[in-house]
Amino acid sequence: MRKPLLAGNWKMYKTPAETKEFFSVFVPLVSASAHDVVICPPFIDIAAAVEATAGSNVEIGGQNLYWKNEGAFTGEISGPMLLASGAKWVIIGHSERRQFFGETDATVLDRTKAALAAGLKPIVCVGETLAEREAGQTESVLKTQFDGGILPLGDDLAKIVIAYEPVWAIGTGKVATPEMAQAAHAYLRSLLPVDVRILYGGSVKPDNVTGLMSQPDIDGALVGGASLDAASFGKVVNF
Ligand code: PEP
Repeated sequence: MRKPLLAGNWKMYKTPAETKEFFSVFVPLVSASAHDVVICPPFIDIAAAVEATAGSNVEIGGQNLYWKNEGAFTGEISGPMLLASGAKWVIIGHSERRQFFGETDATVLDRTKAALAAGLKPIVCVGETLAEREAGQTESVLKTQFDGGILPLGDDLAKIVIAYEPVWAIGTGKVATPEMAQAAHAYLRSLLPVDVRILYGGSVKPDNVTGLMSQPDIDGALVGGASLDAASFGKVVNF
């Protein structure tokens, strides 16, 4: 039985003060949850988030990392740095990083290896664009991303979480139907040599999370917009 994991991706939103305020409401809302609960705020909010969630069932993650431990890499953050700041998780290969910051399957693999070496739990994102879906290429795109960014992990593959995030559903309000998401998840699972959790991401909200979570191969959600509001993400966690 795979334990449900509900993870929030705050993207480039919230200051440390707003982070503190969010958790003062959110932590009590989810304290009775039996699900894994993770929030990935911007780097500058991690210290405030770790402090505000100390002793709770909420864990904190980064939204990216660089694959070197330290060095002359202006603007980058390493796995050991994230871990030292109290983060336990890290999102890797989000479609916004692939689209706007040149992330490739090869760099996804490098970052995932670095995260595992540091002792972080990676949430590795894959997903097709609207044009690729309409061209009937969803499975071939997923396979390319999987073969390049995930499969070479070998035995370490068991230590990651995969997030299936159709690009056309991220931040657009267009959610994949539970059946569409299930089909993609089942396909990804057919590629996997081990049993890992596969999260769905793309406009998950309190009113659609239950339908998605009722699918056999959907093990949780990676949530952007709806994770910024404590009440809303509390409902998603407590689906
Ligand atoms: C995301 O950022 O991973 C995401 C799925 O965003 P949203 O929930 O806003 O579509």
